[in-house]
Amino acid sequence: MTEPFNMLHGLNEMQRLAATTTEGPIRVIAGAGSGKTKALTSRYAYLVNALGIEPSNLLCVTFTNKAAQEMKRRVKKIIGGERDTGYITTYHGFCVRVLREEIHHLFYPKNFLILDTEDQKTILREIYEELQLKINDSKFNRILKKIGELKMDTGYVYSLIDRNQPIKPEDTEDQDRKILLMYLKKQKRVYGLDFDDLMNFTFALFKEYPKVLARWQERLHYIQVDEFQDSSSRQFELIRLLGEKHGNVFVVGDPDQTIYEWRGADPAYIVHLERWYPNCQTIFLNQNYRSTPEILAVGNSLIQNNALRVEKQMFTEAPSGVKVIHYHGKQEQEEAKWIVGQIKDLVKQQGASLNDIAILYRANYLSRFMEQELINDNLEYSIFGGFKFFERKEIKDALAHLKLMAFEDDLSFMRIVNTPKRQIGKKRIELLRQWAEESGETLYTTLKNNLDHDQFIRTEALEFVNAIEALKVKKEEVSVSDLLQDVLQATGYEAHIREDGDQDRLDNVMELQRSLVQYEQAYGEDVSLEYYLQMLTLYTENDREDEKESIKMMTIHTAKGLEYPYVFLIGLTESILPNERSLRDRKEYALEEERRLAYVAITRAEKELYLTESEGFTGRGQKKYPSRFIFELEDGLYKRVGVIDRDLEEEAKEVIRMNRKLQQAPQKEASYEVGALVKHPVFGEGKIESIEEQKQVYHVHFPEMEITRPISWSFK
Ligand code: ATP
Ligand code: MG
Repeated sequence: MTEPFNMLHGLNEMQRLAATTTEGPIRVIAGAGSGKTKALTSRYAYLVNALGIEPSNLLCVTFTNKAAQEMKRRVKKIIGGERDTGYITTYHGFCVRVLREEIHHLFYPKNFLILDTEDQKTILREIYEELQLKINDSKFNRILKKIGELKMDTGYVYSLIDRNQPIKPEDTEDQDRKILLMYLKKQKRVYGLDFDDLMNFTFALFKEYPKVLARWQERLHYIQVDEFQDSSSRQFELIRLLGEKHGNVFVVGDPDQTIYEWRGADPAYIVHLERWYPNCQTIFLNQNYRSTPEILAVGNSLIQNNALRVEKQMFTEAPSGVKVIHYHGKQEQEEAKWIVGQIKDLVKQQGASLNDIAILYRANYLSRFMEQELINDNLEYSIFGGFKFFERKEIKDALAHLKLMAFEDDLSFMRIVNTPKRQIGKKRIELLRQWAEESGETLYTTLKNNLDHDQFIRTEALEFVNAIEALKVKKEEVSVSDLLQDVLQATGYEAHIREDGDQDRLDNVMELQRSLVQYEQAYGEDVSLEYYLQMLTLYTENDREDEKESIKMMTIHTAKGLEYPYVFLIGLTESILPNERSLRDRKEYALEEERRLAYVAITRAEKELYLTESEGFTGRGQKKYPSRFIFELEDGLYKRVGVIDRDLEEEAKEVIRMNRKLQQAPQKEASYEVGALVKHPVFGEGKIESIEEQKQVYHVHFPEMEITRPISWSFK
């Protein structure tokens, strides 16, 4: 122990206090960039180096795997690389670690499988096939939600671990319940645990085996949690349980950065921590080290519009920098081009590295228009926490439909022939391959020539080929964008992703269609299909080299906790940020969460911040207006580039006023309850299966027609 306290160098007084107060419950509440994560990391190092605590006795919970990795790297620099920092991890990572050691108590093997959302869906698809239900009418989304609801507490875990009571889906008549039970049974068969299970199994284990819990409580002598404002009740429960014996719980967070309320995060845990820990100490950090005063002022000016918050007084000693810029473009491409120009200037004039630049946006699909421009200008970029637009599965699938029509190539055929499922599985494909080899035809033609073969009669090959053939005829007459729309509808691909309930994927496909329309507007409607596809290979064959310097692109959610010298927040449009749903939501907090998101984005910037948006139309065909968040900023805090016409500004403000009114209108109430019997003039008698408050609809099942439909509350 040479220099036991060197890990405290460079901390301010309050941070030092946070790092060296090791006993009892402590919370640190502070704004973005005030060094919370730094204090937490230093505290870890202090516990190890100055107090001689073993890292294996220290649980340190971070929000993402990426954050955990970064923290490990920093800590190892101070405490030495060979130490085991396995308990610097996420909530789920921690549960995995517990279960790998202890799950045998629950009669599961240690090498249990971890299931992600895709795996979950695969299991569900199998079930639908077995029950011979069509995935189209399957209410896939609803079932996933039901699984989520089932797994809100630990009750169901007992049915999985009870060896004397096998799960019996066959004993139930209720179809939803049957599907749920089949799902559990299949999960059990592969010993698979999804993300919810990881948490629930850990709870069940601790509840049933107090000795095991006691062992972990003794083992984890100190507990630290970063980004605590986004912990859910279950996550907090886990922390409380583990910290029950010693009470050494240290949490840091910023209530203004709660951005996961929609997923159960509750800032009350940090704001009212004393309810659970009456003797907790509170430390405030007031100095911001990340951003220039200009950027800080913009962040503060925005977040003050939230009613539900604790006011914080932050200051900075950083020298004054440049003004924040709001760029307004007449159309999307102009926005993208301006950003590219600005990036080039930053590189040329300020010697910025591309690594110093981040482009942030509200939703994944928004990356597309930017990506296209970056590629045109040969600027390297990488996307964090996601795929590049043209590498996304649904985009490749959609384009494969067009390629198949243009080139009839086997690759495209293979991509889509059985998506959605048409009973053309591996065996039948193998058969096609053999025939194709013999005849020298493409797989598609081979299928077309053998539609009446025994092997294909009971599949949906005929519908598939008919759809493609019909459109091939149309191909010369309609624009490529119309063709794409038609083919995705005729083959059932669009319905397929709609039913999957993944809004992101649907948004991406809509974005592809929109980009095609734009392309045609720019180059004339008679762009041929072949020409378009050729042009696209330019985007898709772009080789990726991750070590290269690159601009970082990501959603705001992914940017949590990170910082970049230059930040572009793009697509700052009303109905994108704040997003459409929050505008329709009657609960004020939905809008406040959007504002916090914008705040998180703004506070990622160190030196320069650009807020950009443009006119035009959204994917849903709505006219775009600058976000209310721009109008909420005090004048003089930013400089505007580009002109917002008077009329547009008036219209924008009117739209915002209208939205506000809508939101404040008294909440309508549902007149029926779940289970009520109703009669519909067209669909006949039905039963209300569920009620969706947000959309104000009942989901009604009509047995005669074997359908379930959302019916508006106001429909009489
Ligand atoms: P966020 O709320 O966004 O997660 P944070 O409060 O966790 O922010 P950090 O990421 O820990 O803030 O720190 C922000 C930046 O300020 C980092 O670059 C960090 O190195 C720097 N920093 C923190 N404390 C100090 C200090 N005492 N002196 C100098 N720089 C500091
Ligand atoms: Mg942080």
